[in-house]
Amino acid sequence: MSGDTNMPAEKQIKPKAFGPVSKGYPLIDGKIHIAGRAVEDWIGEIGQTPAFLYDAALLDQRVTDLRAAMPERLAIHYAMKANPFAPFLRHMIGLCDGIDLASGGELEMALDNGAQPSHMSFAGPAKTDAELKLAIKKGVTINLESEGEAERCLAIGHSLGIKPRLAVRVNPDFDLRGSGMRMGGGAKAFGVDQERVPGLVRHIIAAGAHWRGFHIYAGSQSLDSDALAETQAKTIALAAQLANAIGVAPEHINLGGGFGIPYFAKDKPVDLNIIGEKLKRQFSNLPVILKDCKFAIELGRYLAGEAGIYVTRIIDKKISHGEIFLACDGGLHHQLAASGNFGTVVRRNYPIAMASQRDGAEEIVNIVGCLCTPLDRLGDRVLLSRAEVGDLVIIFCAGAYGASASPVNFLGHGPAAEILLNDKNDQ
Ligand SMILES: *Cc1c(COP(=O)(O)O)cnc(C)c1O
Repeated sequence: MSGDTNMPAEKQIKPKAFGPVSKGYPLIDGKIHIAGRAVEDWIGEIGQTPAFLYDAALLDQRVTDLRAAMPERLAIHYAMKANPFAPFLRHMIGLCDGIDLASGGELEMALDNGAQPSHMSFAGPAKTDAELKLAIKKGVTINLESEGEAERCLAIGHSLGIKPRLAVRVNPDFDLRGSGMRMGGGAKAFGVDQERVPGLVRHIIAAGAHWRGFHIYAGSQSLDSDALAETQAKTIALAAQLANAIGVAPEHINLGGGFGIPYFAKDKPVDLNIIGEKLKRQFSNLPVILKDCKFAIELGRYLAGEAGIYVTRIIDKKISHGEIFLACDGGLHHQLAASGNFGTVVRRNYPIAMASQRDGAEEIVNIVGCLCTPLDRLGDRVLLSRAEVGDLVIIFCAGAYGASASPVNFLGHGPAAEILLNDKNDQ
């Protein structure tokens, strides 16, 4: 016992901020709820942690709100790479007007889950001949990333005796301000530089392909509503300029997406009304060559992200150098993005909470995962309700780029459970 008197004085540890807890997860009697029940109860029923819990009613609400704010003429596409979990994908196929694919594997998943090929478009670099062939056979629109890809599509279409449906992805000279990931402007793996687009479109029309129009995607994860609206306006102007240079009206323009969600402290959600009002004005004043054109936006995380949570159980509680560590059965192998290792420069805390708030007492804790790497941290010095071994931790914003965008095989812990709640297809 005498050793205790020699312990260093506890150092002062300041908590770090974390993101705003998503809407739709009420705290009732000290317990966080999803889909009308306590998270704890759902986990009891599933009998497994870690687990991703998704709420189909939140997906419905999101799409309803989006449709209410946007012009009726604007179609809403789901970029399925955000979350391809089959029941989730099925639900989104029923809810949205189209599905955007990024691989042949996604194409097969979308077909298996009931999507119509005529409502699918396929973007992404290095599409193989096998992928292109499958897409052309099924009648999926291919968003061409290069002139070489155009040639391969024309050759495959010719050999199959099918007119391929081809749109040209444009690498615009601008990018989306405030974007988490820049996808346009300058030298890029994506799309054809804008000045080369008219020549390419004339060529594919002359070669007998079905030219569908343009795909212009300028960035991702922006919370700046004015920047999003400005990018849409620039995109429409660019499409009109290109169409006029070609001398043919496009059937369809994919305006991109890029709507972000609030992951971090001080993040504010996008204001749909600002974007919707500006787009309505754009649509009521379109350049002549776009008068009959159909328009779509493609969204992944905005539709899916806040509709899901990741739940992990505390296995161990320990103190190191005066800091509390809660070691959990989950980690970055399921939720890479929350650990700060998926496209972020500075690690910041995702929205996080204890599923059950015990007694009003709070502690500053580090929430770490079960992998043998210091990267595996889901919460860095977060001030949360006091927790013990066996309690459940919730990471919010887990509906997009979670299970499918994390290195699940790393260390061999296996996948997390996934479940879609409030799923009408499942009753
Ligand atoms: C990934 C991707 C999307 C979806 O991006 P989010 O940030 O999830 O909305 C949309 N379009 C293209 C072309 C993409 O590659």
